[in-house]
Amino acid sequence: MKKHVFVFKFGGASIKDAEGVRNVAAILEKYRGKQVIIVISASGKTTNHLEEVMYAHFNRTGQVNEKLDVIKNHHRRLMDGLFDPGDPIYEEVEALYREKDWIFEPPASDDYDMIYDQLVSLGELLSTHIVAAFLNRCGLDTLWVDARSVIRTDATYRESQIDWETTQNQVNSLIKPVVEEGRFVLVQGFIGSTAEGLTTTLGREGSDFTAAILSYCMDAEKMVIWKDVEGVLTGDPRLFKNVTKLPWLSYKEAIEMTYYGASVIHPKTIKPLQNKNIPLYVQSFIHPETEGTYIGPDVEEHYPPIVILDKNQTLLHIATRDFSFVVEHHMARLFKVFADLRIFINMMRNTAISFTVCVPNIPDRIQKLKEILEDEYTVTTEDDLELLTIRHYEENVLKSMTRGKIVLMEERLRNTVQLVIKDIPLIERI
Ligand code: ASP
Ligand code: MG
Repeated sequence: MKKHVFVFKFGGASIKDAEGVRNVAAILEKYRGKQVIIVISASGKTTNHLEEVMYAHFNRTGQVNEKLDVIKNHHRRLMDGLFDPGDPIYEEVEALYREKDWIFEPPASDDYDMIYDQLVSLGELLSTHIVAAFLNRCGLDTLWVDARSVIRTDATYRESQIDWETTQNQVNSLIKPVVEEGRFVLVQGFIGSTAEGLTTTLGREGSDFTAAILSYCMDAEKMVIWKDVEGVLTGDPRLFKNVTKLPWLSYKEAIEMTYYGASVIHPKTIKPLQNKNIPLYVQSFIHPETEGTYIGPDVEEHYPPIVILDKNQTLLHIATRDFSFVVEHHMARLFKVFADLRIFINMMRNTAISFTVCVPNIPDRIQKLKEILEDEYTVTTEDDLELLTIRHYEENVLKSMTRGKIVLMEERLRNTVQLVIKDIPLIERI
């Protein structure tokens, strides 16, 4: 049975400065008395800045404090714009920094992914403490909940998998009763915890997924992702001109789009919602009155061309050294190496003695792959490529988008065409 619960996700852009936080509070003001769970990401570019701290720490560049100061100054400015001097929030935030001090003290751990999660989770802890405090100062009764006591995961740091049963039980005991009392619950996106109590993260941009997990566990009436665009568009407005808003999408189309690299929604978001038929709205926090995109079951399946550009791709050309045919046993071995190294294949093609794949360019993983395959195969790479996917393509759109471009690999299916291309400038028309 669906409850009248709304799950709202606000991303980093919505709370990048004090004005943004005030705007979020103004949106929530309209839901006073309703049952609302608020999921918040790190403010602005904090996660990227924390990754820089992590880099400085691990590579001993001597810049840890300098990089941390960028984060501290950002949050100080944010608080200065929202609170009076001496407000208890300043001390709460100081305590959060202190909790992370151990990371930088010797002996340094060499478990990069584990330490990454312990450190990078700071972004969501800071933002949620600040926003929850501000909402309460505005008279919106909000309980700050620690996602680490709710979202239980395994220990695959940086890409952890959800333990659904434990998470459901923890939602039932820690979130449900509070929401039913009519208080807002505010929780960090992106982070969770292992059974041993170590912090984990769900993968970059994972706050959407957190909101979907909570929507699922709460049988929410709807989930809303509040964004700085008016909804899901036919292409990324930063890359393409003349994009238009899609008023509706089926779950299936949304899953396909995210699979092909559309960054508007985290790829794992749709499935939990679809399992319980919970509609997802993508809506503008700048113009909250305007209708966004509705994503749900049973929508008419007719779409305009939708364009997705995935940057920073590499073509890996893998050929057998002894000129033996690339047959099933080679494929089995190659796929296993790709899976073990978590290199995701976006497109592939095999010929008699070679196998060519388009993958995201993650240099350390590709280097490992080369080392593993060295004995049997020659592996050559071609970097700086882009993967262009057009759903519901029309020949004229395809033509106009590839004019003057070098197409290195192409695949056409009924609904989708994918092209690996070199250097694509701003496209005028789609
Ligand atoms: N703050 C995290 C990130 O930037 C999670 C999120 O934004 O969803 O990746
Ligand atoms: Mg973010």
